[in-house]
Amino acid sequence: MSFAPDIFAGQRFAVVGLGRNGLPVARALVAMGAAVTAWDDTAGARAQATGLTVAEPALAGLDALVLSPGIPHTLPRPHPLAAAARAADVPILSDAELLFRAVRASGSRARFAGITGTNGKSTTTALLAHIVATAGVPVAAGGNLGTPALALPRLPDDGVYVLEMSSYMLERLATLRFDAAAMLNLTPDHLDRHGDMAGYAAAKRAIFARQDAGCTAALGIEDAPSRAMADGLAARVVRIAADMPADVYAPDGVLRDAGGPICDLREAAALPGAHNAQNAAAAAAMATALGIPRAAIARGVLSYPGLPHRQERVGERGGVLFVNDSKATNADSTARALACYPRVVLIAGGIAKAGGIESLAPFFPRIARAFLIGRDAPVLAATLAAHGVPHAVVETLERAVPAAWQAARTQAPVVLLSPACASFDQFSGFDARGERFRALVQTLAEAA
Ligand code: ADP
Repeated sequence: MSFAPDIFAGQRFAVVGLGRNGLPVARALVAMGAAVTAWDDTAGARAQATGLTVAEPALAGLDALVLSPGIPHTLPRPHPLAAAARAADVPILSDAELLFRAVRASGSRARFAGITGTNGKSTTTALLAHIVATAGVPVAAGGNLGTPALALPRLPDDGVYVLEMSSYMLERLATLRFDAAAMLNLTPDHLDRHGDMAGYAAAKRAIFARQDAGCTAALGIEDAPSRAMADGLAARVVRIAADMPADVYAPDGVLRDAGGPICDLREAAALPGAHNAQNAAAAAAMATALGIPRAAIARGVLSYPGLPHRQERVGERGGVLFVNDSKATNADSTARALACYPRVVLIAGGIAKAGGIESLAPFFPRIARAFLIGRDAPVLAATLAAHGVPHAVVETLERAVPAAWQAARTQAPVVLLSPACASFDQFSGFDARGERFRALVQTLAEAA
C-alpha cells in the first residue's frame, strides 16, 4: 500500500544528492504532496532528475534538508548547503526520519526495527526481515541496504519496518524511535566523517535514542566500545554475541537464549562462521522482542537464503564449490570468509586497503593457491611470496576463474572469491565484480 498523496502537503524540502538514495526519496516526497527542490553538484546526476524541480535550493523556510548519506554535514568538511542549513536552523534529516513521520501521519502503528554496527548490518537486516516474513507478519526492509526507507510501502498496524542504519543516517534523526534496535560491533571505520572512535561510537549509539523501557536494545558485547554502550540505556538491554556468554549467543554453533536452544546454526547454510552467529543472535533477539514466535525464528534462520556477494554459493562444478564473497573489500572481511573453509583456492585483488593482506597471515595455511587480479595484484603477490603461499598474478577475473577451477580440482574443495580489495580499478562496484564471477562460473558449467 502506498502513502496518501497529501501526507506531506504544505511541507517544503530540499533533497541534495541525487543518487541511489536521493532520487527515489525526492520522487517519494513529491508523490506524498511535498514541495521538493532537488539538487546535485554534478550535472550528470541532475540530468537523471526528470520531472523534478532541479535548482540549487534556497534554505530559508524549508521544513528540512534531506542530505544523501554520502554527503557530510560536519566532518571532514560540511557540504556548503549543509552549512547553510545549519546557519538557517533548517533540520538536516535522513529519509528514515521522514518514513517514520509518514507512517505515523498515516495513522499506522507499524513498528520499527533498526540495525547498525560496523559489520553485519545488511545480513542482520535481511535475516530479521526474513524471520518476520516467515512468521506471516507484514514486513518492509531497506534503508542503507536496498530500497531507500522513504520508498518503502505503508504497512498496517501489525507491520514491521526493518531498517539498516548507517552512522550517517543515524546522525540525521529527530523523532524516529526504534521499538527494537541492534548495535552489532564497532571497529575503526569512516573516522574521517566522525573525527575519532568516540565520535563514531556516539553516532552509532544514536540508534538507541528516544527508546524507553518498552523498547529493546540488542547490543554486541564482543568489542569494548560496543559493550560500553549499555551504560545508561533506557531500553531493555539484550546482550548478544557469537560464542561469548551473553543473553542470546551460539555456543558450539547452537543459537540459544534464556529459553534454551533456538536452532543449530550449522544447518543454516547461508550463515557460515562466527560473525554470522553474532548476526543471527541479533536478529533472534530483535525478533523475540517483536513478539515473533520461537518456532518461526528457528524456521527463518534455517531457511534464510543469504544476500548476494556475501559468501554466496554461486555454483558447484566437478565437486568444487564456488563462493562469491565480492563484498569483502578489506582484509578483515576476507579473514571472516577464510575462517569458514579449511582449504580453498582464493581469488583476490583489486585496489588494496592500507596494510594489504598482511593481517591474513594466520589464514595463509588454508590457501592451497591464490590467483591475483587487478591493480594491486603485485602488492598481494609480494605478501604471499614472503609467506610461501603458492600464487599466480593473472590480472583478470576472466583468467582467474578457469585457472582457479583447474587448481581446485586437485587441491581444494572450494574456490573463494574474497578480494580483500576495492573493485573500482576493474568494475563499477563489488556487486558488478560478483555478478561477473557468477557469470564466469556459469560458463564453466556449460563448457564442462
Ligand atoms: P555491512 O552491511 O555492515 O557492510 P554485511 O552484512 O554486508 O555488513 O557483511 C559484510 C562483510 O562483513 C561480510 O562479508 C563479512 O565478511 C563481514 N561481517 C558480517 N557480519 C559480521 C559481524 N557480525 N562481525 C564482523 N564481521 C562481519
